[in-house]
Amino acid sequence: MTDYWADGLGAPADAQGKWERIAWEIGEMVAGPNSNDVDRNARFPHEAVAALKESGLLSALLPVTHGGDDATMGEISGAIRALAFHCASSALVLAMHSLETFSLKRHGLTPGLQALAKEVAAENLLIANANSEVGIGGDISRSICALQNETNPMTIEKQALAVSYGEYADLVVTIARRSPEASESDQIMFFCRPPQLQMEPTSVWDSIGLRGTCSRGFRITAEVSPDLIYPMPLATMINDGGGQSRQLLLNSVWVGLAEAAAARAHAFVREAGRRSIGTTPATALRLAELAVELQEGRSLLVSTAQRFYELDKMGDVQNAGFLMAMRSLKVSTSTLAVRTATEALSICGIAGYRRDSPFSLDRILRDSHGGVIMGSNERNLQDNAQMLLARKQI
Ligand SMILES: Cc1cc2nc3c(=O)[nH]c(=O)nc-3n(C[C@H](O)[C@H](O)[C@H](O)COP(=O)(O)OP(=O)(O)OC[C@H]3O[C@@H](n4cnc5c(N)ncnc54)[C@H](O)[C@@H]3O)c2cc1C
Repeated sequence: MTDYWADGLGAPADAQGKWERIAWEIGEMVAGPNSNDVDRNARFPHEAVAALKESGLLSALLPVTHGGDDATMGEISGAIRALAFHCASSALVLAMHSLETFSLKRHGLTPGLQALAKEVAAENLLIANANSEVGIGGDISRSICALQNETNPMTIEKQALAVSYGEYADLVVTIARRSPEASESDQIMFFCRPPQLQMEPTSVWDSIGLRGTCSRGFRITAEVSPDLIYPMPLATMINDGGGQSRQLLLNSVWVGLAEAAAARAHAFVREAGRRSIGTTPATALRLAELAVELQEGRSLLVSTAQRFYELDKMGDVQNAGFLMAMRSLKVSTSTLAVRTATEALSICGIAGYRRDSPFSLDRILRDSHGGVIMGSNERNLQDNAQMLLARKQI
């Protein structure tokens, strides 16, 4: 698939693309049935990740020559949305891993990183990231941690704020200042891997939602191999597709969560309709309103993915208007998920409020709030506010 986008405009269950269908089936058969247990016990979704590995989805973005499938961002965005319908934690694992395979494909130009990309595909390695840092928070344009580049081997020590599925990953990508003398924004990105990597947990992950991501804090110490360092500055990687792909992949989770909430409300209203044949349940109108918002979210996600694809062909992903649109997508989809879950709750009433009902919105409602803070909406809006002051067009 390159220029087929209709899949993203309808329900994920109806999508026909290869990766969307595979993700939907994994969601239906594996991730969904385990999602409440994953949530209740704040445990890693082992079953879903094993199925993702077996299906080839973890390496789908990588080039065919490296053992991948050359899947497009639109396809993987659709797969993440489909999986998030069933289990947002599993979908986030796929999204976070995929943004690292995207970077490997696009920026992993050295022989060492190309060999690593092949190994990721051949061995189905799972990649986590330890970018945010205690003392800095979510602003990844700055680092306290520095690569000790004058020792042999080179080393790092980092207080990572949150590393999703850090304990279960085969590789951890992180960012640091280039050297102890480098400024806080002179950063590079590199892979760390056991046995040269040690991760000592510094917090537990007992969160409101997205509990299956197991995003504990860690004290990270590692010896860093020069072969596993990206050959360009972090800022170049972020501007040249890294930041854009991150937004697209993570935001697919929030749209999938909105789909899940809407589907529960839909099922509830249909059941009410079956009980009173010949009349339209009062909640049907609320559902129709909710469908309007859901369609806006779907369309926004697809049109942004499409714009990414077109701009990339023209070598213009750094287009300022597009960067602004990406941040707007983040704010829009994350708040859509919260709003849809809340509205679905008011449609389902007590059946949605109960945890033991097929219409329960418990997990979806809690998970949806994660989107608002996973990359601060305030930060996104402030960045756009500054840009708007300089731009002639909105
Ligand atoms: C489920 C989940 C999984 C995660 N997984 C990972 C992971 O795998 N790897 C990783 O590195 N990190 C991960 N994180 C961390 C995440 O990426 C962010 O770094 C983190 O959520 C931000 O934490 P914070 O809100 O304390 O900090 P900040 O983003 O620094 O925000 C602190 C406060 O300041 C406000 N604020 C920030 N900037 C501005 C501004 N410009 N204007 C006004 N207000 C502002 C925010 O709204 C917030 O209230 C995860 C987080 C979550 C929730």
